[in-house]
Amino acid sequence: MSGWALPPLPSQISRLEMTGHYQLWIVALSAFVAIATAYAGLSLAARVVDTRGVSARLGLAGGAVTMGTGIWAMHFIGLMAWRLPIVLAYDLPTTALSWLAAVGGSAFVLRLLRAPRLTAAHLAQGAAAFGGGISAMHYIGMAAITLVPRATYNPALVLLSVVIAVSASLAGLYLTYRLRGGHCWQTQVARAGGAGAIGLAICTMHYTGMAAMHIAPDAFCRGGVALDQSALALIIALVALGLMAVLTLIMMVDGHIASRMRRYADDLELANVSLQRAATHDSLTGLPNRSLLMQRLEEALLSARRTQSVTAVMVIDVDRFKSVNDSFGHPAGDTMLRVVATRISAIIRSGDTLARLGGDEFVLVATDLRDQAHIEALARRMGSVVAEPLMLGGVELKVSLSIGIAVSPADGRDPSMLLKNADSAMYFSKKAGRDAYHFFKAEMDNSARERLEMESALRHALANQEFVVHYQPRVDASSGFIEGAEALIRWNHPTRGLVPPGDFIPIAEECGMIVPLGEWILRLACQQLSQWQRAGHKDLRMAVNLSAEQLRQANLPQVVQSALADAGLEPSHLELELTETAVMRDTAQSVRVLGELALLGVTISVDDFGTGYSSLSYLRRLPLHRLKIDRSFIADVCRNPEDAEIVRAIVSLAHSLNLHVTAEGVETAQQLEFIRSLRCDEYQGYLFSRPMGAEDFLAKLGPVSPTHRKLRALGNTAITTLRIAALRE
Ligand code: C2E
Ligand code: MG
Ligand code: MG
Repeated sequence: MSGWALPPLPSQISRLEMTGHYQLWIVALSAFVAIATAYAGLSLAARVVDTRGVSARLGLAGGAVTMGTGIWAMHFIGLMAWRLPIVLAYDLPTTALSWLAAVGGSAFVLRLLRAPRLTAAHLAQGAAAFGGGISAMHYIGMAAITLVPRATYNPALVLLSVVIAVSASLAGLYLTYRLRGGHCWQTQVARAGGAGAIGLAICTMHYTGMAAMHIAPDAFCRGGVALDQSALALIIALVALGLMAVLTLIMMVDGHIASRMRRYADDLELANVSLQRAATHDSLTGLPNRSLLMQRLEEALLSARRTQSVTAVMVIDVDRFKSVNDSFGHPAGDTMLRVVATRISAIIRSGDTLARLGGDEFVLVATDLRDQAHIEALARRMGSVVAEPLMLGGVELKVSLSIGIAVSPADGRDPSMLLKNADSAMYFSKKAGRDAYHFFKAEMDNSARERLEMESALRHALANQEFVVHYQPRVDASSGFIEGAEALIRWNHPTRGLVPPGDFIPIAEECGMIVPLGEWILRLACQQLSQWQRAGHKDLRMAVNLSAEQLRQANLPQVVQSALADAGLEPSHLELELTETAVMRDTAQSVRVLGELALLGVTISVDDFGTGYSSLSYLRRLPLHRLKIDRSFIADVCRNPEDAEIVRAIVSLAHSLNLHVTAEGVETAQQLEFIRSLRCDEYQGYLFSRPMGAEDFLAKLGPVSPTHRKLRALGNTAITTLRIAALRE
């Protein structure tokens, strides 16, 4: 480790001594500086690749200075390790020039590494520039030593040193190019390995260059700046290392930022994908939404035009979805929609598009269809897969679909026309009793438009008092006396005249209008009965139809109670009619509300009995008073033995359950005879009277009949004997 304490006098220097020797720790230091420089250079190249504009130029300049200085420092440190019997002095301008050569070579290489692709020519140019730069730096640096006489060089070794410099640069460049842009730890490790190789190669170049030099034994330095070698080595090493440490730190931070940016970019891309999905898909079912459907339909129609094939658009509506939602809650409704989506998706072909447009409306675009039979088979399959039992909240539900089909090109050539027509056909299926599919026909277009107009007109009708109530007598089958009235609503439309309830009640139910409308009818009917009672018809009863929607209103009992109280009526004079389907639809709610109504004292009857699906054993648990046999059974009762049998069975079952029975729609004397023979309690029908206005009804009631009163007192036996006389009356 120890050097010479004093520089020897030139006369004492022997030729042998002028070859000098190396101080190993400084050699090691020089190797370390070379490796560290190479590492910084490689990392910087990676950063330069990642940046553009001003920061790229700054990075390039900083990198060239740092890398050049590092290599230059390595060279000087190597020189310091070389111990000679004389003190070396340096010419400053030439030393600065050697520094410039190192920086220039580095700048060239760093610029080169920005190229997106490194060709063999680039590689050769870069290796020549960098290797040349290092070599130039070395030999200019050597020339800066103010030796007298000048040192001489072994040309072969000089050449070897240049070859080593160029090939080290070639390897370094190639490695750098391959490793640039990486920020993961594996890349860092590989880069450190590469830096080690390049650093060692630079060192080898330097020491080969040194071996090529020959200094005359009597040489000495004249002029220039002489420095104490150890101090110089240390200073240069510290400066270079400091520079590189700062640079490496900056680059590490940079690398971190860059990798974070890349992560952000990845996140952004992911977010974009999910945003894109959200914009085109329905979140509940994951199916395409309206906008994607329109796009797919457009594409399907275009390709169908090319291949001359048929495309079908099916609008699919889940029957009675609203009531499931209301009765079981929204989560159950959502489950139902998801199940419907999954079941239909499972049976369609991969090229078909099933979309959800919102609510319970789905649309299927089926392409490449052969014929109508093919489409019908598809519609039937959809109906049957959704019909498979579905358990919701412990209750088994049967789901059905109303489907409307429009076929291109026959029913339209553009997406909106096809959708509109399929929608009209779907409404037709709904109107036809649901659980059905229909192909679009021109006349459906009108009915769909009418329906829309009707919905908006209905909203005004209540405010404009366009509704009227007609009353149909309910007649005691045995005595033929009017027992009461059934209130039946009509819409006195400004242009269409008297509109029957069948044309607007379903629409009022769908748009929710039925609730206020139903309350209005109830109050009016109660007031009307109260008026008739005040006119003397004390025993008369009033029946009012309630829709399923009204039964679902939790405050229905309060509404009924208030209507009765306002009219001053006895609750027992009011009868509420509910269809079989309405009662069966939401059983738990029916039991609760009907129980409260029965407690009030009003009676409850099941309307249109026989048309829905109900179990008599279930009906037994409800506080019912009467069954009204649907008029469709009565219509054919005298011609169709099956209907006669059904009516007979209903009457006897009802009686066995202590329920009264009313036959609806009695139009002929034979029908009346038949139901009488079954001991049916009451009937309604055109035979006795059509529904009529309140005044006509009062006229039909006639004067308050004392006979009627007497008959009631006499009891059933007397009624039987007098009924023929009463009928003649
Ligand atoms: P519904 O409650 O079964 O009423 C009996 C229907 O049968 C009435 O039709 C009545 O005019 C008709 N009808 C009575 N006798 C005969 C007959 O001998 N032959 C024939 N062919 N028909 C007869 P309308 O008034 O058109 O009412 C139809 C349905 O509309 C009612 O059936 C009821 O379900 C509903 N509805 C009527 N008014 C209201 C109301 O105020 N509220 C509610 N929610 N529904 C109502
Ligand atoms: Mg009724
Ligand atoms: Mg009925």
